[in-house]
Amino acid sequence: MSKGTMTILGAGLSGALLSTLLAQKNYSVQLYEKRSDPRKFGLEEGRSINLALSHRGWQALGQAGLKSKVQEQAIAMRGRMMHSETGDLSFQPYGTEDQAIYSVSRLGLNRLLINEAERAGAELCFQHRCEEIYLKRGAALIQNLGNEESFVTEPDLLIGADGAYSTLRTAMQKTPRYNYSQSYIEHGYKELSIPAKNGDFALEPHALHIWPRGGYMLIALPNADGSFTCTLFLAYEGKESFAKLNSPAEVIRFFEQRFPDALEVMPQLTEEFFANPTSDLVTIKCYPWSRYGRNVLIGDAAHAIVPFYGQGMNAGFEDCRIFMELLEEHGSNYADMITHFQELRKPDADAVAELALKNFIEMRDLVADREFLERKKIESELHHRFPDRWVPQYTMVTFSDTRYSDALRIGKQQDKIMRRVMKHYDYASELTDQDYERIVTLLDAED
Ligand SMILES: Cc1cc2nc3c(=O)[nH]c(=O)nc-3n(C[C@H](O)[C@H](O)[C@H](O)COP(=O)(O)OP(=O)(O)OC[C@H]3O[C@@H](n4cnc5c(N)ncnc54)[C@H](O)[C@@H]3O)c2cc1C
Repeated sequence: MSKGTMTILGAGLSGALLSTLLAQKNYSVQLYEKRSDPRKFGLEEGRSINLALSHRGWQALGQAGLKSKVQEQAIAMRGRMMHSETGDLSFQPYGTEDQAIYSVSRLGLNRLLINEAERAGAELCFQHRCEEIYLKRGAALIQNLGNEESFVTEPDLLIGADGAYSTLRTAMQKTPRYNYSQSYIEHGYKELSIPAKNGDFALEPHALHIWPRGGYMLIALPNADGSFTCTLFLAYEGKESFAKLNSPAEVIRFFEQRFPDALEVMPQLTEEFFANPTSDLVTIKCYPWSRYGRNVLIGDAAHAIVPFYGQGMNAGFEDCRIFMELLEEHGSNYADMITHFQELRKPDADAVAELALKNFIEMRDLVADREFLERKKIESELHHRFPDRWVPQYTMVTFSDTRYSDALRIGKQQDKIMRRVMKHYDYASELTDQDYERIVTLLDAED
């Protein structure tokens, strides 16, 4: 017996996982995706080829019983490998020895989730685009792009998992007093690659590689075939910018000066640089996430963020987990469930958006800064000595379920305390046992 009918718009990462979870719980699920089936074709658009999956993502995958299947495709990255301009390497672990974030293929993960949704009984319709929304009815007009025929679907609940430029959200934006903002940063990104060398990884595989250069950076994540996907984050305009890189010679000169060790392992650099698009980085905020109680937004449709904390997909997966928990709690009272969902998640979505923007500065700049590195050492020692009383913000965000809003708030308290500490000490080695005790007591006093 079906518990209710759910239509999901978008078979991206959030939509495919939520379809699986709902179908596993005996909801009748119809999933409409405008693209072709990614199990038959590659992704059409050039969005990041691999993604960092961390605790929140694993939790939601675990809820669907998919942890071990995804694990088979994932490569552990235990820390950041920093590349200086002279090619010196330094490794900064993300946490304790058993803590890692995981590089997974976007396409591989999407295909796996779509297979699982189908196996659980969801009805999948590819090349079906949502054209129009009838908000009050919770209905959508869907066009079959194969034969151009259109029809209306009117489920118990219409779920917009249709990404940053969501059709469902666009309809909500036309209703009175709807809050919406989108802001682009001045940087764009371009994907490049480091191929496997004699069938093996050209760089250490169990790390996220970063070439921080102040106002911009290059990063690389490993792929299962021995290659790395690199992403260059650079301003669109200015002295060092995409606008200044107009010829193969200019690109080579820029890499020779700024990323010489990367250039050595990027034989296809100039071809890829001019073949691959330069894409935008946007933060989208909106509220409410539902209008009139029969529809709701999840994932990027509700909260698109910049990728610098590696949390966009993880936050979308956490949406799915919490959505299911609240559905269990509220049963078929969808209106109450949605109200609860958006009230709970909105502060966390705003917090992770702020954290992601802040982490860009940390990644491109501070990770190469001596004071910052000493501070990290002190915080790691504090966590080691007082595991429950001082948890570094990165650990809360990446390796725990702590609400993003709490991680943001506690992180600000830690910042305030650490600014005071760093006025008195240059190196972690100068601190005594009593100093550590005093510092953790300061954080206790903030609560
Ligand atoms: C460069 C980059 C790097 C990133 N790295 C990470 C990372 O390391 N870790 C991490 O957690 N996150 C990362 N992210 C974020 C992550 O990619 C997104 O948060 C995630 O893909 C959101 O999933 P979603 O399912 O909500 O939306 P999407 O993946 O955008 O899926 C939306 C789907 O809806 C479909 N659709 C859209 N409109 C319609 C319509 N009208 N009708 C039918 N279907 C429609 C689209 O075709 C698409 O398949 C990164 C993002 C970028 C840009």
